[in-house]
Amino acid sequence: MTMGFMFTFSKEYILNIFLEHKEVLLFGRWITLNHIQKTFSRYEMSSKIEIERIGSSEEDRGIFQFSVGSGKKKILIWSQMHGNESTGTKAVFDLLNYLDKANDYTAERILSECTIKIIPILNPDGAERYTRVNANDVDLNRDAVDSEAKESKLLRSILETFDPDFSFNLHDQRTIFGVEGTNNPATISFLAPSEEETRKVTEGRAQTMNVIIAMNNLLQQLIPNCVGRYTDEFYPTATGDNFQKLGYNTVLIESGHYPDDYEREESRKYTFISLLQGIYHIANTSDFKESEAYFTIPSNQEKFRDLLHIDKNEAFQYEEILEKGQINFVPRKIKEDISSLLFHKKTFS
Ligand SMILES: [Zn+2]
Repeated sequence: MTMGFMFTFSKEYILNIFLEHKEVLLFGRWITLNHIQKTFSRYEMSSKIEIERIGSSEEDRGIFQFSVGSGKKKILIWSQMHGNESTGTKAVFDLLNYLDKANDYTAERILSECTIKIIPILNPDGAERYTRVNANDVDLNRDAVDSEAKESKLLRSILETFDPDFSFNLHDQRTIFGVEGTNNPATISFLAPSEEETRKVTEGRAQTMNVIIAMNNLLQQLIPNCVGRYTDEFYPTATGDNFQKLGYNTVLIESGHYPDDYEREESRKYTFISLLQGIYHIANTSDFKESEAYFTIPSNQEKFRDLLHIDKNEAFQYEEILEKGQINFVPRKIKEDISSLLFHKKTFS
C-alpha cells in the first residue's frame, strides 16, 4: 500500500463480511459477562486468538482480554467502560469472529501487521446492573486522574505495559444526538480528544484524526450524513483526553441511534465496520499526518427526543429499565419546550 493514501473498502465487501461474521450469540442492549462468556469456549479452540483473565472488578467479576495478531503495530480496544453501553462490545465480538475465521487478504494483512488487544467489558459490574458507573458508583470515564476504581487502574496498567500505537475507546451515545446541518440522528460519532484546553492539534492528535478520516470516508458511503464529530472540549479527568495527553493516540467511537433501532443492531454493524476500516487503515499506513478532513465531519448536536404524540403535542424520552433479563423502553413525559426538537417517532395516541 502507498503511503499517505487512504484505502477505503467497498461497501458491498464490508457489508458481506459483517453478515458472514456477526456474533449471533450477542443481541440487544443488555450484554453482560455471562453473555460474552458463552463465546469463550469457541476461542479456547482457536489457534489465532488468546483469552486471558487480566483482572477483576470491584465485585470480583472477571475482566478479560483477547489478543490476536503478531504485527508491529499495537492496537488496544476497550468497550463497556460504561456498563450500559454495549454496542461496541457486540461489534468487537463480530471483529474477533471475523479475525478468527476469515482467511481473506484483509484479515491476514491485519494479523501480520498488527497486534490487537481487546477488553470487551471493562466494567462487568455496571454491565450486570445496566448502569453507567461501576459497583462503587464511580464513572470510569471520569476516573483517569484519580484512578480510584480497580477497573481504571487495570486499564491504565494495560495501557502502560502494552504501549499501543492506537487505542479505540468504545461508548454509546444517547438518542438525543443528531448531526449538525441535517435532520439525521448521529448513528456514529467520533472524537480525537484534545490534550489541553486550547484543543491544539498536536502530532499525536493529528494521527488520531487521520484514522477517523479513514473510518468516516467509508461510513459516508453507507450512512451518508449520519456521522457526527463529538465535542473536543477538554475534559481533564476523561480517559481519552488523558491517554491522548500521555501520548497514546485514542480514538473515541460513540455508537448512536439509527431509525427504529433501539436494540442498536444497526449501529453495531456500523461500529464493526468503523473498527475494521480503522484497523485496516492502521495496518496499511505509515504516515498518519493528514488530519484536516477531520474538521469537515459535522458536529454532534443535541436535537432529538424519542417520541411525540402529535394530537396531544406531548413529548417523551425513553428510560431504559432492566427487567427480567431485558431492557424495557419506558416513555417518560418531557417537561421542556419542544418547539425546536426533532423526534425519532411520531404517533397518534
Ligand atoms: Zn460512555
